[in-house]
Amino acid sequence: MADTTARQAQATIHAGGEWLAGISGATREILDPADARPFAVVAEGDEKDAERAVAAARQAFDHGPWPHTPVAERAALLRRAADLLVRDREELGLLESRDAGKTVEEGRIDIDCVADAFRYFADLVAAEAPGRVVDAGSPDIHSVVVHEPVGVCALITPWNYPLLQASWKIAPALAAGNTFVIKPSEITPMTTVALIELLAEAGLPAGVANLVTGPGHTVGARLAEHPDVDLVSFTGGLASGTKVAQAAAPTVKKVALELGGKNPNVVFADACATEEGFDTAVDQALNAAFIHSGQVCSAGARLIVEESIRDRFVAELARRARKIRLGRGTADGVECGPLVSEQQRAKVEAYVASALAEGAVLRCGGKRPEPGEDRPESGYFYEPTVLDACHREMKVVREEVFGPLLTVETFRTEEEAVLLANDTEYGLAGAVWTTDPGKARRVAGRLRHGTVWINDFHPYLPQAEWGGFGRSGTGRELGPAGLAEYREAKHVYQNLAPKPVRWFAG
Ligand code: NAD
Repeated sequence: MADTTARQAQATIHAGGEWLAGISGATREILDPADARPFAVVAEGDEKDAERAVAAARQAFDHGPWPHTPVAERAALLRRAADLLVRDREELGLLESRDAGKTVEEGRIDIDCVADAFRYFADLVAAEAPGRVVDAGSPDIHSVVVHEPVGVCALITPWNYPLLQASWKIAPALAAGNTFVIKPSEITPMTTVALIELLAEAGLPAGVANLVTGPGHTVGARLAEHPDVDLVSFTGGLASGTKVAQAAAPTVKKVALELGGKNPNVVFADACATEEGFDTAVDQALNAAFIHSGQVCSAGARLIVEESIRDRFVAELARRARKIRLGRGTADGVECGPLVSEQQRAKVEAYVASALAEGAVLRCGGKRPEPGEDRPESGYFYEPTVLDACHREMKVVREEVFGPLLTVETFRTEEEAVLLANDTEYGLAGAVWTTDPGKARRVAGRLRHGTVWINDFHPYLPQAEWGGFGRSGTGRELGPAGLAEYREAKHVYQNLAPKPVRWFAG
């Protein structure tokens, strides 16, 4: 893999097959969240860079070969890209760790998942029938519904899973025959830059994949409103997603939004009736809340536990949370990295303060850790925090924090558990823990969330749709619906024996 961190002249903008510096010449340092030191410099693109990239994508869509490339060839290219990702897994995993602060092992797993997404969408398109013949009721009519690429796609991605979120958009967009401009988060662009290089190496024609590094309010906003963009697919927070939808509305482009979550993890007492069950439910609650320092859209940030087991459950959870090894993601034995930025840590600190002021009881964490050998003082570390005695009116329970912060609420009845779990404006994901299969199915059926886990937390499958109810977004990624987002349906109706209609007599 080419060393993207050493890319000359900060030429991290890719338009029409060329690597370019920003038109303004401005640059941005990319910081390692573990010590706040810069490890790369990228072009700070702006609206003009966005326009240049859209023009390249438009040209490649309207006049280039990709939209008409046979499906088998498009699928083969996606599979080559997956192979190159696997080839560069170590470097990319390390780069993701430095960019986003996660452990290198998490970075490697992300890259495996990225390769899986490319393979999944390659297999999906390769296995499809070219169109659906419709019975028009006459042998003289041939009627078929085909699915065509939507056109130029603007893809806007967040910083928590930089390459994974990008792949859930890029792979289906390419599989369907689109061209695109991607704008990664301004603070974690490095692996997306690397992926664009890999796509070129895999043989993608110039102009199909374009990239602009830079901020959301300039580059992202211009992409969302641009009249030559046919679709905008956005993953990020609710506030930015709302702005994207507003910016896209005047040009009536397709909009897909993958937004935040405030995800309930409902634990019934029966799930903890045995030692093994208790240990599993606690362990998974810990993982649900604290993996990647809680900076996960589907994090199980709300523990909703049956009152009879609350004390024991929370005590064990807090005991284990205190033992989580925080440190630089590249250091051996570290289990959890820092938050992505000072801004993100400040946000977490403000939520903890507000929760305590509203009556929450701190069981562990609630502060920055002591610096250590693998934990520089300048890094954005924050201790895993458990806040007990929370209730649904609290700000910390209602709003997405996106940090290592777990709130605890209790219930007495199944009805109350469902009510609490659904009491959120979001609806991304949720889990229910019980050994009673009937209860599991009943509760899962009533949860208003896009993914529901029964006796598990966090797994997703590329074959299964991912997305949210309510303000967690519109549209779906992954699965057949994740491909359909990038297509237009066209009905082609052919009259094999045309005759005059004679509606008008004259
Ligand atoms: P963010 O909304 O701040 O930024 C996301 C992206 O949007 C960035 O690239 C940013 O530059 C861009 N952006 C910001 N303002 C914009 C604007 N006005 N117009 C166009 N683009 C704009 O989100 P973030 O802090 O990077 O990521 C965290 C959020 O992402 C959380 O809310 C999390 O839940 C969400 N997320 C959701 C999913 C999902 O699958 N639903 C997955 C990952 C992250």
